Amino acid sequence: VAWIEELRAALGPERVRTDAGDLRAVSRDASPLHGAPACLAYPEEREHVERALQIAAEAGVAIVARGGGTSLAAGAIPPAGALVLAFNRMARVRELDAEERTALVEPGLTNFALDALARRHGLRYAPDPSSRRVSMIGGNIATNAGGLHCLAHGVTTDHVLGVEVVLTDGSVAWLDALDAPDMRALVVGSEGTLAVVTAALLSLLPVPEATGMVVCGFSRLEQAGEVAESIVRAGLPASALEYIDETMLGVISKMSPGVLPSGVEAALIVEVETLHESLDEALATIEALVAEAGGSSRRAVGSAEQTRIWEARRTSGGAFGLLFPDSYTHDFAVPRDRIVEVLRGVSAITEAHRVEVVTVAHLGDGNIHPKIVYDGREAGAYERVIDASNAILELVLAHGGTLSGEHGIGLEKLGAMGRQFSPAELDMLRAVRASFDPEGILNPDKAVPLAGDEARRGVFAHA
Ligand SMILES: Cc1cc2nc3c(=O)[nH]c(=O)nc-3n(C[C@H](O)[C@H](O)[C@H](O)COP(=O)(O)OP(=O)(O)OC[C@H]3O[C@@H](n4cnc5c(N)ncnc54)[C@H](O)[C@@H]3O)c2cc1C
Repeated sequence: VAWIEELRAALGPERVRTDAGDLRAVSRDASPLHGAPACLAYPEEREHVERALQIAAEAGVAIVARGGGTSLAAGAIPPAGALVLAFNRMARVRELDAEERTALVEPGLTNFALDALARRHGLRYAPDPSSRRVSMIGGNIATNAGGLHCLAHGVTTDHVLGVEVVLTDGSVAWLDALDAPDMRALVVGSEGTLAVVTAALLSLLPVPEATGMVVCGFSRLEQAGEVAESIVRAGLPASALEYIDETMLGVISKMSPGVLPSGVEAALIVEVETLHESLDEALATIEALVAEAGGSSRRAVGSAEQTRIWEARRTSGGAFGLLFPDSYTHDFAVPRDRIVEVLRGVSAITEAHRVEVVTVAHLGDGNIHPKIVYDGREAGAYERVIDASNAILELVLAHGGTLSGEHGIGLEKLGAMGRQFSPAELDMLRAVRASFDPEGILNPDKAVPLAGDEARRGVFAHA
């Protein structure tokens, strides 16, 4: 194929792959969907990205930028015949300025590697998706990733000071948070549909003076909802407010026995970040709120114990994979005062559709992740999951919720965009996209539905 030969000549043959095994590896992400790329390239310099975009654009070939491939929204699924640009080899830290508390990094750096490096300087990178050991800064920026600590510190966009991007014609732009208008804000969260990110200037935060946790167990979900609401309303310095349901507690206890409560309907991990002198009072106030609601609690203050608790929570995804053959992860946000009602509604829907559901949630943000578990080998199982999922979407939107809480729209929810956004809003999205990428070759079937059949693709295509 002429454009692939041209790409080989421009980037060097060692950076361009077309064999079936390599292509298969990038044909999927963490969603249930898959694609069929024609070519995989590993840029090592920005110039490689510029050339790749020029060549693909001229040939009218779709381009999908790829980070860690952990998208749960089918955001990294390549359309048939696409070029995948995988950023594993562009993972340098160009500069870390500890005094200015900034880092200029390349998109292939993992979230975890950046945070670990920052910690050597008494700093940290605040957005911390549970996928952080694998997911990369480029993917985090493209999805505007959230994480356990976003309750206190905001999501990725709140930490991106500027981005270097390559546009479809191969030209380069620096988009800065201080620019007016702030075009950086358009690119963050645009799911690779506007430009390819080749570097980012990120802000780092000081490591907090003191942290502590209260791990709580509740016999009823309503009690957990009540406590979460009281903590937020009281203005306590909660940096994370994680909800875990009974089934997930059972899953986690297989990997990390005794770390989280057992025999309860709901658990909350409440983390507090504050000054040394205020820590005890904040934790005591939370314990009192838990007791008042009829729950049980355990305090964790040492860093080893707190790390053990977070690791148990973060490994829930992996533990889960060991027990259930297949799962479909929902990602939506609802107003906090609707959380309990929606969680109860999700249980009723899954029961009616004879599928099992397991839920974790960033409760302070109203960001909920029910995972429907199933065995894809069983005839009709996936169809039941999608029917239940469709009913869940209806429930969420009826309660004033959003299609996505933090994973993005991707290809997964392309066909559902019209349920949340009006025709005028969708036209606006299309116009923004066309202004960056007039030919529509950057991650073409993601996030922004085109008109007609294209608009109905994704997991909810036929729902
Ligand atoms: C176990 C597990 C836990 C998770 N936990 C969280 C969580 O707590 N919070 C959260 O928000 N998400 C979470 N996710 C979802 C996922 O990790 C995030 O969406 C993450 O930001 C994706 O990063 P990635 O590097 O894997 O990107 P990929 O999956 O490779 O790509 C995601 C999107 O980014 C685009 N992209 C990638 N690199 C670039 C680039 N350089 N320029 C332009 N576009 C680019 C892709 O085209 C695609 O649209 C989780 C996923 C898993 C599997």
